[in-house]
Amino acid sequence: MSDSIEVDLAIVGSGIAGLCAALAAWDAGCRSILVIESEGVVGGSSRLSGGILMGAGTRLQRAKGIEDSPDDMFHEYMAWNAWRLDAAVVRRFCDEAGRTVDWLQDLGVPFTGDLILGGDEPQPRCYPVAGSGQGVIDALHARCREREIDIALGKRVDHLLMENGRVVGVRVGDEEVRAGSVVITTGGFGANRERLAKHYPSAAATGDWAWYIGADGARGDAFEFAAQADAQITGHDRGLRLLHPNFWQMVEAYQPAWVVVVNADGRRFYDEAAPYGIVDDVHRWQGDRAFVMFDDAQLRFEGERAQYKDPVMGARIKTPNWTPEVVDPQVAAGAMYRADTIAELARAMGVPEANLVATVERYNQFCADGEDREFAKAAKFLQPIAVAPFYAALVKPATICLTSCGLRIDPDGRVLSNTGGVIPGLFAGGECTGGVLGDRYMGSGNSLGNSATMGRNAGLSAATSVARTGR
Ligand SMILES: Cc1cc2nc3c(=O)[nH]c(=O)nc-3n(C[C@H](O)[C@H](O)[C@H](O)COP(=O)(O)OP(=O)(O)OC[C@H]3O[C@@H](n4cnc5c(N)ncnc54)[C@H](O)[C@@H]3O)c2cc1C
Repeated sequence: MSDSIEVDLAIVGSGIAGLCAALAAWDAGCRSILVIESEGVVGGSSRLSGGILMGAGTRLQRAKGIEDSPDDMFHEYMAWNAWRLDAAVVRRFCDEAGRTVDWLQDLGVPFTGDLILGGDEPQPRCYPVAGSGQGVIDALHARCREREIDIALGKRVDHLLMENGRVVGVRVGDEEVRAGSVVITTGGFGANRERLAKHYPSAAATGDWAWYIGADGARGDAFEFAAQADAQITGHDRGLRLLHPNFWQMVEAYQPAWVVVVNADGRRFYDEAAPYGIVDDVHRWQGDRAFVMFDDAQLRFEGERAQYKDPVMGARIKTPNWTPEVVDPQVAAGAMYRADTIAELARAMGVPEANLVATVERYNQFCADGEDREFAKAAKFLQPIAVAPFYAALVKPATICLTSCGLRIDPDGRVLSNTGGVIPGLFAGGECTGGVLGDRYMGSGNSLGNSATMGRNAGLSAATSVARTGR
């Protein structure tokens, strides 16, 4: 990049949203595109991700005879999130997510061909990619190179250039990039403690336990741009947190379904096999303090068992935390509780003894009956807590996967101003936006699906705007 250059389209950030924006703009005929990336490597958090995308009505579904539609996805999505979202934007996401999966497939993203349940949807609409997130980024980066779309690495955009209320480019230190339109795809803010405290306080509230699993570039620079352009922010205190026992920084999306989880009162409060997308919300409701419990028979069980909701991941995933190799040393180190009776365990945990004893007795009866009459956990996961010694560990939803507060957009990806109109020349898509992901994560694929679809959407709108206005 020289001190001042001019392009039709400047895209800030090279994650899946930025690369999809660039490729969509190219599809729309835009040939002067610059992607600007603050880090030394292309891909942001997208590159580190599991590489699972969500979308309804895809070729991959049709090939397997699965009937699904964007309309079904929209209604499930809105109900799941109690309609506390920008419905018109979610509608665009749901309408385009399946087509975006097809488009990515055409671009050479190596989908494995499998379909999985990412959360609680009635039919599978989530698609793993070979090579996970890096597999997605490698394919998109290769297509950008073939189309000679420039990606400037190590350039952190610090300012929007504004003239008469219109965004006319960006600045990186002393360097200026003048552009007909600017697309912000800078990802989330999980790597920025101050921004977490301000915009996702529930994540910051887990204190020392909180750890972010994404990329360093997720500093929330979009909030700076919002301040410069007087843009609206939406989605306060939203994101995705997963449970962990603080033994180490190890991601475990699903606790094994055979454990029992109790709150500070010693009572169960949800189906332990529920989709992980509800964990953030359900644990927040309990003050973010809960205990995972099991007995010695469960811990040392060596046969095959269904550990997770089928067919999300089947029993293929081995729990990283709840094995004898981990638990025995953690007990010895004082990081877990172990006792010969439930009453003794309750005293160690600091929960009401009578409550915990009653909870376990009741749960064991459900196991004997083959029916969980409290939280309807599937019978195949019901195993009694009966063989001493008994174990418990404090867990908190402190693994921060992504953030969902950010720039407010309209369905075309135009950024909205605080006064409600669109900000001319400014578009956004992906994790840097709010209003698309809600209080409950739909499941694996929700965020990459959003970033790919709405990044593509923003790139297309921005290119169309440049073509129409000549700017
Ligand atoms: C370990 C992990 C696993 C995940 N697995 C899944 C999954 O399987 N499915 C799913 O749906 N979601 C998953 N997610 C979430 C998902 O990966 C992200 O929400 C998504 O990738 C965000 O994409 P993005 O393009 O919006 O942002 P990013 O991929 O984070 O890209 C943003 C880019 O902008 C750059 N940038 C930031 N500020 C500036 C600036 N000022 N100037 C220039 N560049 C800047 C950043 O460096 C970064 O490269 C996962 C997340 C993690 C961390």
